[in-house]
Amino acid sequence: MNNAGSELPSWPAGYRAALCLTFDVDGSYGEGNYRKPDETYWLSQTAYDSTGLRRLLGILSDTGVAATFCWVGRVAEDEPDLVKRAVADGHEIALHSWDHRYYNQMSDSEQHFDMERTLETLERVAGERPVGHKTAGWRFNEATHAIAQELGLTWVMDVPGSDLPYFLRPRDDLDPIVQLSPSWTWDDYNFFVDRTLTSDQAFTCWRDDLDVLRDEGGLMSLTCHPFVSGRPGFSRAVERLIDYAIDLGDVWIARADHIARWWLERAGTT
Ligand SMILES: [Zn+2]
Repeated sequence: MNNAGSELPSWPAGYRAALCLTFDVDGSYGEGNYRKPDETYWLSQTAYDSTGLRRLLGILSDTGVAATFCWVGRVAEDEPDLVKRAVADGHEIALHSWDHRYYNQMSDSEQHFDMERTLETLERVAGERPVGHKTAGWRFNEATHAIAQELGLTWVMDVPGSDLPYFLRPRDDLDPIVQLSPSWTWDDYNFFVDRTLTSDQAFTCWRDDLDVLRDEGGLMSLTCHPFVSGRPGFSRAVERLIDYAIDLGDVWIARADHIARWWLERAGTT
């Protein structure tokens, strides 16, 4: 594992592993990237995003855990009340591009403009300056993380390169940025969109991953979407994972910014 050779404990005292719950609020823009305009069967499914978001916020509130919401800038501007509610509930707001266009199809300057515009919009709506970024569709390129670094962000969640956080330093003259590994197996699209499985099957996969990572001391970073995992039955997969992690008693369920800050402090880089 990258940066895992240190004798320093990986996690705060009392915790054997970490679980980061992230929810990507794509609105209609994610599906709009690759569906044709007449595919209303699929495009209209995203109209459930805010309904699902309210259900997920309720689950997080009931279970008392904090999560990270990667918000598309345009969606935040269209529906600012849900951003404000997430902040009031103690959740982190992070960047997920302006309108979910893929960064690996943009020039460097277009990416910079897009990320900065999203950052400023989310800061204005949320009342807090975001410090993290997840690239839409994980379609980044070699410029993406340098731009995040230039904008002063502390974490990104794009590359599944390790079971632990690790540092990226695309620019040597700037502070490092923490990469928190996502995974296609921790993405609800894999279970409930690309194929229709049951919430029980998704939970079983996630529980087994968490069990192994708990044995090894790793980090699990879940990626869910409100119009997918916010559905009535599918939401049970998220709720059961949270309940399971809480019952284990030694899994640190934390926002991405808190995990990144811990990793930086642990390495003495702050
Ligand atoms: Zn997305």
